[in-house]
Amino acid sequence: MTAQDLSAVQSQINVWDMAQRQLDEVSKLIGLNESLHGYLRQPKRVLEVSVPVRMDDGAFRMFTGYRVQHNLSRGPGKGGIRFHPDVTLDEVKALAMWMTWKCALVNIPFGGAKGGVICDPKAMSMQELENLTRRFTTEISIIIGPEKDIPAPDVYTTPQIMAWIMDTFSMIHGFSIPGVVTGKPVSIGGSLGRDKATARGCSYVVDEAMQELGREIEGATVAIQGFGNAGMYAAQLMADRGYRIVAVSDSRGGVANDRGLDVKGLTAHKAETGSVAGFAGGERVDNREVLEYACDVLVPAALEKVITKENAPRIRAQIIAEAANGPTMPDADDILFDRNIMVLPDILANAGGVTVSYFEWVQDLQANFWEEAEINERLKRKMVRAFRETHEQAKSRGVSMRQGAYCVAVARVAEATKLRGLYP
Ligand code: NAD
Repeated sequence: MTAQDLSAVQSQINVWDMAQRQLDEVSKLIGLNESLHGYLRQPKRVLEVSVPVRMDDGAFRMFTGYRVQHNLSRGPGKGGIRFHPDVTLDEVKALAMWMTWKCALVNIPFGGAKGGVICDPKAMSMQELENLTRRFTTEISIIIGPEKDIPAPDVYTTPQIMAWIMDTFSMIHGFSIPGVVTGKPVSIGGSLGRDKATARGCSYVVDEAMQELGREIEGATVAIQGFGNAGMYAAQLMADRGYRIVAVSDSRGGVANDRGLDVKGLTAHKAETGSVAGFAGGERVDNREVLEYACDVLVPAALEKVITKENAPRIRAQIIAEAANGPTMPDADDILFDRNIMVLPDILANAGGVTVSYFEWVQDLQANFWEEAEINERLKRKMVRAFRETHEQAKSRGVSMRQGAYCVAVARVAEATKLRGLYP
């Protein structure tokens, strides 16, 4: 199958079915009763909005956006907003469900939500992006707010976009409401450490997994797909800790060097050219090759559904740390489990972002800001505990780390939902 055929097959696989299937399996494992299972299988609330945007040529263009709240039993909704041409409602629903489990796994008092707008931000000017963000925020303002649902960055949404969301929401209400969104610039109520939090959290759980497998960190090799917020900072933080980054890629291609890539040089190259492709300090590789690269740790940090039953048998890493959401297809998961590859599931491996988002929200509500060292220390405690709880479940039940994580998370959400009871 060619890479194009493969990507066509992948895009037909419905990510929402995949998320529901994962829940179905875990419900059986933990013996969840049928009514609760049915309750958790559906999102609580789905909002679709039409977003008219004035473009630079003076014409209006209509965009479609979504905000989905999956479960709010443990607290307000929490989840990023994605700007991407391939956004679909099913994708947003799946991502919202995964947010519910993620928040429960790291034990922060949030439910799960997610948003998205079908657009191509790379083809839009800053002014057009601002217009889109402000109008989208206005359209979803009826269901968001610091005590209702708190958006954050995701693919192709930045701290600047979070600042526009905060400003628009504040203008609607007549006073500054920094707690409506996280991932903001520090100067308007953002948290220190938020920019690197997803990657930092990911590196903490990789360290734990290495320790569990009795592996040395110094010189352990890492391949990373995606070189944005999650992937680039993962490369930097892991290189600082002694890991050797041997292959990376982004949407335009990749680069590899078995002796280790110079991550600082690579970051500068990306800043200059917009891509890691063409970096002189290594050989050109494509995205497929990065996933199958010989390494100890593979970090998918781009989009969903990239690890499939076709490439899973060829993956050579011992640990896969899912910085991206939903990178592994369920049938690929089975193959990886049989091959004894430890998959640190997305709801664990990328939970650092939402954890520091939670810290940001707490700081905003208290108007009292913490030092970065304190934030990183608190983050580490949460991530290590979540890893340990996941590992214990996986080990005692003889299941994968993903199923272990789901057992912890789904049980917590089910308990909260049950305790609150059915209204009215
Ligand atoms: P980003 O926009 O900063 O970076 C995305 C990266 O992926 C870019 O380097 C882009 O070039 C690359 N990419 C896009 N299409 C690709 C393709 N087909 N092949 C290879 N690379 C491709 O986004 P991000 O915030 O780093 O998010 C990446 C993933 O991490 C997403 O799945 C997101 O949901 C997840 N995530 C991010 C955060 C966060 O705090 N940023 C938190 C949790 C999960």
